[in-house]
Amino acid sequence: MDVVCPQDSHREEVHIISSIVREGTVADHTGVVRQTELARQLSMPPPPEEPLQHRVGCFGYFQILLWGILSVYLIERLVDSGSWGALIASVILLALAVFAEILIFSRRRSKEKSESEEYAKKKQAWDDANAKWELLYYCHRHGIVFDPANLKEFCDPSSLERFICQPPIFHTDEK
Ligand SMILES: [Zn+2]
Repeated sequence: MDVVCPQDSHREEVHIISSIVREGTVADHTGVVRQTELARQLSMPPPPEEPLQHRVGCFGYFQILLWGILSVYLIERLVDSGSWGALIASVILLALAVFAEILIFSRRRSKEKSESEEYAKKKQAWDDANAKWELLYYCHRHGIVFDPANLKEFCDPSSLERFICQPPIFHTDEK
C-alpha cells in the first residue's frame, strides 16, 4: 500500500512512525538512551506500571507472633488464677484481636483488588492506543501524524497522545 500525505497526497517524506522512533532512539555503550526530538515526540507513552503486591511482610508476621505469645501467657495466667470470669474476658479479648487482624487483612485484599482492576483498565487502554500507534505515519514535509486508513484526521506530533487515546488516560498526574 502506498501511503500518501493527507495534505496534498505526496508520497515522499512520509514514514511509519514506529521506524522513525526506532531509528531516532540510540542507546550508547553505557546504556544511556538518546532520542531525537522527533522520536521523543512520536514515541508511545510508557505502559502503565503494575501495582505492587502487598505482602503480609515481616511486620505482619511479627504482630501475629506477638499476639500468639501474649495470648498464651494471658490464658495461662488467668487459668492459674482460677477465675472463670477472667478466662472468658481473655477469650473475648483474643477473639477481638483475631477479628481486628482479619479486618486488616481483608481491607488490604480489597485495596489490592481495586488497584489491580484499575491497572487492567489502564493496560487495556494502553494496548488499544498502542495498536493505533503502530499504524500511524508521519509526514516530514508538513509535520503531521496520520492514520493512512483515515486521511481526514491528522495531528501535530505534540498532540499524539490525544490522537491515539480519547480521553487520554496514561498521565494520571494530569487529573
Ligand atoms: Zn505532507
